[in-house]
Amino acid sequence: MNHVAFQQDNTTNSATWYDADDLRWAVRHWAVRIGVKSPIIQLRPMRTKWASISTKGRMILNTDLLAVPKELGEFVIVHELVHLLMPNHGRVFKSFMYAYMPDWEAREKRLQVYAGGQRRKKGNR
Ligand SMILES: [Zn+2]
Repeated sequence: MNHVAFQQDNTTNSATWYDADDLRWAVRHWAVRIGVKSPIIQLRPMRTKWASISTKGRMILNTDLLAVPKELGEFVIVHELVHLLMPNHGRVFKSFMYAYMPDWEAREKRLQVYAGGQRRKKGNR
């Protein structure tokens, strides 16, 4: 009888970011892919959101992103970069999201779980 090893789950990449430079590299990578200018990236703790971007191309990333799986951080990065193409969250914004990250909705849902966990954690104190 063949030994059946546990299959590693390669369908999801749950590895977290190595460091802030790892995150910055991903932003530049996605900026090239989406065809927008690489923003100036700043990491700092944020209370209510994962990231923000200004039309002048300054991106602020929540340092908490370093603790969530890369693929969810990538969703945040793509979301912010797409704002350079479309400032609101309307139909055009969504079609860009589908084009660059077809599974963005699933990632967004998973990210909400992390946000909820963080709120609970902070609420305990
Ligand atoms: Zn947005």
